[in-house]
Amino acid sequence: PYYRNAVYEQYNSAINPWPSNQQSEVSTDAGIAHDGPYEMHDDETLNSIFQRLETPLYDDVSDDNIKKQSAKNLKLYNDIMSVEIDEPKVDNLVRYDDENYERASATILSLVRNKDLMKILPVIDQLETKFNSKFGYPYTFLNDEEFTEEFKKGIRNYLPNDRVVNFGKIDDKDWNMPEDIDVDKYEKEMDKLENEKVGYVKLTSYHNMCRFYSRKFYHHPLLKDYKYTWRIEPDVNFYCNIDYDIFKFMELNDKVYGFVLNLYDSPQSVRSLWTYTMEFLRENPNYINKNGAFEWLKENLQQNKNFEITSGYSTCHFWTNFEINDLDFLRSEAYEKYMDFLESKQGFYYERWGDAPVRSLALALFADKSKIHWFRDIGYHHQPYTNCPKCPPDSKKCDGRCVPGKFTPWDNLNTQNCQATWIEHVMTEEDLALY
Ligand code: GDP
Ligand code: MN
Repeated sequence: PYYRNAVYEQYNSAINPWPSNQQSEVSTDAGIAHDGPYEMHDDETLNSIFQRLETPLYDDVSDDNIKKQSAKNLKLYNDIMSVEIDEPKVDNLVRYDDENYERASATILSLVRNKDLMKILPVIDQLETKFNSKFGYPYTFLNDEEFTEEFKKGIRNYLPNDRVVNFGKIDDKDWNMPEDIDVDKYEKEMDKLENEKVGYVKLTSYHNMCRFYSRKFYHHPLLKDYKYTWRIEPDVNFYCNIDYDIFKFMELNDKVYGFVLNLYDSPQSVRSLWTYTMEFLRENPNYINKNGAFEWLKENLQQNKNFEITSGYSTCHFWTNFEINDLDFLRSEAYEKYMDFLESKQGFYYERWGDAPVRSLALALFADKSKIHWFRDIGYHHQPYTNCPKCPPDSKKCDGRCVPGKFTPWDNLNTQNCQATWIEHVMTEEDLALY
């Protein structure tokens, strides 16, 4: 097709890890206009879209330039984080004591095991103190096993009586490894990835979790009537008060995704994901949003090996242990078709595709980048990374348990931070002025 160019040829021929007889067929309606929200791109637009998706962000990949850009990135992050911020400067923040206050259609969501009760309670405690005791959003807990009475009581006893709490079991077919996965092959591939020091590869439950959070959770019956979810998980921390309704902020400002941290991933875990994704995009070009955050996907300096190993993907991803999702985006034709396609490529098991890179690719490709919001004001920690805003000196907003602007206590991990690329190449002046 006309949108191919030399760069595409180069990447496309780079890898295809599984023999074609192992790949299942997916029907796709290449190039056909869709009813609904998808824009039928003209040739010129398509050319420029694919040009951007096939071209590395930086030309000069010398060691010198890598060093220079990495230092620049660290400085940009530090500069932005050293600015005192408070709440987003929009005129539609909603407070719990506003007249006629009404909650959004939303739930706090946690996938958790019975044995992790004592690890999720302190998280709930912090979220209640900082945010939810004011707003009273319901909680939804999901598990691949039945929740025990002890777990349910433990949660209910902690929360006020009038708080809605849902407990649900995940259908085995949505959780377990699908039957068409060849277990011998899976084990062989995981031996290889383990030798490459990729985390969690031998834990089938982890593969299940990543697949579930990528493509199944938003169909769980308990989430059917909600539009937004705020994901939390055991052992995370919330450091700062949030005095406005986060979900209403999403709704009134037309955001489909909220994140706090964004990072590089272990490239071996997603070795073929970009190549397959490009295959999907070529078959379904009209799902692509021309205002997508492509540059963030195509950054190729700070972790240039990642870009090489994945044949063209920075591995930058939103850290989904915190994420606020507009479920309508996940339930959209583009997202669902993409998930079916990825499922057919079986990389949730033959590699270890994380839900974070999968979600991030979908967002950066199918959503307008202005609909993805960095909650700079939410103080949040998941080992080993932190988003810690700097507050005005007299502010009692944050509780002093995080160091403003400090991404990680381990200096060598600073190069795992992808936020500078987001700031430099995706955020507009307007976004920057929002805090
Ligand atoms: P990490 O953050 O990537 O190190 O992964 P975690 O161990 O924190 O798991 C991510 C999320 O999935 C957390 O909310 C866990 O509670 C949940 N999770 C992971 N594995 C399982 C599992 O086998 N069963 C259940 N119910 N939850 C799981
Ligand atoms: Mn975790």
